[in-house]
Amino acid sequence: MNNSLHTKFNFLLSTPIFSSLPSEELKKIALVAEEQALAAGETLFKQGDVGNSLYIIMSGQVKVFRTSDDGIETVLAHQGPGCSIGEMALLTGDLRSASVQATEDSTMIAIGKQDFERLLADNPYLAQVFIKIIAEYVRKADLRIEQGTSQELALREFLSQQRQRPEAKLIGKSRNIVALNRVIEEVAAVDNPTLIVGEVGTEHSMVAQLIHEKSHRKEQALLIVDCATIPTLIPSSQSQESEEKSFLMEISQDSAIFGHESSVFSFAKSRRIGYLEVAHSGTLVLENVDKLQRSLQAKLAAYLRDGNFYRWGGSDMIRADVRMLATSSIDLAQAVEQGRFDKDLYEQLSGQSVSIPPLRGRKKDLSALVGHFILKYNQESQKEVKGVTPEAMNLIMSYDWPGNVEELESVIRRGVHISEDEMLTPQEIFIGLQPLEGEKRFNLFRFERFQQIFESQLFPRLLQIGTVVFFGLVLLLGLLGPQNPTSNIALILTWAIWWPVLVLSFLFAARFWCGICPIAAIAEWINHLCNLGFKAPSFLRKYGIYFNLAGFALIIWEEQATEMNAQPRATSFLLLGILTAAIVTGLLFERRAWCRYLCPLGGMASTFATTSIIEFRGNLDVCNNECSTHACFVGTDTVKGCPMYQGAFSLQSNEYCILCGNCIKNCEKQSPRINLRPPAIELAAKTEQLRAKAFSSRLGLALFVPLLIGSLFAREFKEMAIYERIEQILDTDALTPLVTLVVFSLMMFGVLWAGGIAAIRRPGQSIDRFCWLALAFIPLTFAGELAHQLARLLLWAGQLIPTLGRQIDFDHLQRFGIQATPAMVYLLQIMIILFGAIITLIVGKQTIANYINGQRTFPLWVLRMLVLVLSITYLILFSQGA
Ligand code: SF4
Ligand code: SF4
Ligand code: SF4
Repeated sequence: MNNSLHTKFNFLLSTPIFSSLPSEELKKIALVAEEQALAAGETLFKQGDVGNSLYIIMSGQVKVFRTSDDGIETVLAHQGPGCSIGEMALLTGDLRSASVQATEDSTMIAIGKQDFERLLADNPYLAQVFIKIIAEYVRKADLRIEQGTSQELALREFLSQQRQRPEAKLIGKSRNIVALNRVIEEVAAVDNPTLIVGEVGTEHSMVAQLIHEKSHRKEQALLIVDCATIPTLIPSSQSQESEEKSFLMEISQDSAIFGHESSVFSFAKSRRIGYLEVAHSGTLVLENVDKLQRSLQAKLAAYLRDGNFYRWGGSDMIRADVRMLATSSIDLAQAVEQGRFDKDLYEQLSGQSVSIPPLRGRKKDLSALVGHFILKYNQESQKEVKGVTPEAMNLIMSYDWPGNVEELESVIRRGVHISEDEMLTPQEIFIGLQPLEGEKRFNLFRFERFQQIFESQLFPRLLQIGTVVFFGLVLLLGLLGPQNPTSNIALILTWAIWWPVLVLSFLFAARFWCGICPIAAIAEWINHLCNLGFKAPSFLRKYGIYFNLAGFALIIWEEQATEMNAQPRATSFLLLGILTAAIVTGLLFERRAWCRYLCPLGGMASTFATTSIIEFRGNLDVCNNECSTHACFVGTDTVKGCPMYQGAFSLQSNEYCILCGNCIKNCEKQSPRINLRPPAIELAAKTEQLRAKAFSSRLGLALFVPLLIGSLFAREFKEMAIYERIEQILDTDALTPLVTLVVFSLMMFGVLWAGGIAAIRRPGQSIDRFCWLALAFIPLTFAGELAHQLARLLLWAGQLIPTLGRQIDFDHLQRFGIQATPAMVYLLQIMIILFGAIITLIVGKQTIANYINGQRTFPLWVLRMLVLVLSITYLILFSQGA
């Protein structure tokens, strides 16, 4: 024997596991065993890996730990010389249930899977030795286990702890919960199969756990298996036919529940004990039982009838005494009628059933639930959140929680994670979020190059530099250039190019402009040097949108009163004013408080971006279930968190996302994506989110619609002969634009308010009904503004070069002027208005239907008539210029 072989032989001989083996056998093991060194901190294997070796520690020490879905690590044991690691996965054929990492420099010997199996086959008593090791291992991990002598018992106990379940307790004292607890007691006392039904997120497994704990089997194993996530024995590939996939799923589910004999599958040579055997004399919970393949449903029904089954590939009948609990979120009776669920199994299960009430039916419990989750996640994230503000509680109370308790838990967990105060505010309670991917959307990040642009550290810096240069040029030309409007290109650059392109960009790129906006970029760069970093005060967060409204009205009035689009210096002063306000706000508050709460252009951008054909969203399945950092919101060492107080997880609308790309750079899970979608589709699906919004911000958003329409009427009205008459009557240049703006805006508000009452015949505040109708009119409002701005672009922007010629006294440039004909422009405007009207009709129908909970009995004529009247009004006003 050489030295190394000798060392291994002597070492194996000194271990309690192998000491009793004959020398010949030990020599064979020493020959195949390989020595392996592990530096401190190095990982031997990870949870979820395929088990391919057994390890015996020769020197050093390792840590055995599990990581939960939330990323929380639980140390199960520390193992030293002589201990074995990794036998569980080899015995059961399952994936590694824990990770192992060296805590100091260690050496171990590894015995490969095949050698291990041969060892067990040649030395049957070794199986018993390993079972004892497993039992001891679990005991050390402080997991409750009964000492057992058979392999089944040890495995059963071990697997019953695979999920470290919190104490089962239904939170709340509402009548529904009291009744549910009573039913649970009754059902627990009768040892029959039981069906637990309830909407998605209604804590099915918690109820199952309670039934088990109150039953006479409470000292026995409880095994909870989600039929929707049973892993396939071999990974399926995309190219596989659906029949192949479903067969693979069928044998995987069969093997997991009933087990399989050794060597029946080429890819799984060892015998597998199914969950039914593992749960013998205990309780087996099959979550989402409707996700079982049909053949399995029938096999399960047969088992429930007789109590016997066969392992896959086996000929020995096996008897298992198991209490079966099955859960489902769908209507199984209907599934049986439609042939999607086995009738026999349904009858076996539904003999005894428990129905869990949805959260909206027990809102009385919301306060207790919120408190419970805050405590839970305070501990997890080491925060000291004490509760929620009354506004946030109102928000929670007014929402219907379609995702039930699990949705509430996810919302509170996220709130606690991102909160920096003692109380959670409405801004930290992101609710009403439903995954939006899939139907009618195409993820543009499928084009890798496109995604790489947003991931690049140069984005959006390079583009910002370009816009800042443009902005500086406009400012200087306006301030220092000639004040004759026909000889200063600052006016054309601002009013005929910048503004129209900005409005057009809302359709194709949502609020992308704000991501590269020179005003925000300059403010941000200056504030980088000096910033007091106060949190935005709550009045600003609550009523910011009204500042947006007032600011926008002020700009429109100023523009009209000073004839700003003919005044280069006034134009520059306006831009300078907005820049100064952005810088001052940035000096005081963290992030982009100006853009989020105050900027008048931002208010308009928020409203119009909802009509866009693109959207930026997080994959909510990932955000809700796999993320514990929320780095998109809080930021990382290299990239700041969302400047707009959002996160990809909170986006259900384009309103506040400026596509700055920060969250794409910060998110490790690659959750954010940019989708192509039908225009304005979020407005039709937005009711839930709007319902959840605080009333003040809901009203603020809706008020933008009459203001935007009113401001457009006021601007177009100025071109009509009657305007001069009014000016003469009022005898002032400054007051007339204000009067027309206020009158038209109030008139539109009145029309939409009355329309809301007429169209939405459902009890509720009339102002709320106005909100919903106004929302539906955003596409037509946007179409009006776009048509107005495009006329400027097409009729005026072509004069850029001749104007430049005049500005620099270079007459030869005069001939390079171009201009569309008014008739062409008008034709285009008609098409735009028509398009806006159609989208408004589609969206409006859906929005109102959503509002009245899917009933389509509302008088559609009201909507149609309003759309018709508004469209005709637009066309009459635009015809003045044709
Ligand atoms: S909100 Fe206003 S200042 Fe901020 S980026 Fe948008 S346009 Fe610029
Ligand atoms: S976007 Fe990324 S960082 Fe943000 S919540 Fe989702 S997974 Fe977490
Ligand atoms: S959600 Fe993401 S892309 Fe949108 S503004 Fe916030 S950080 Fe930027």
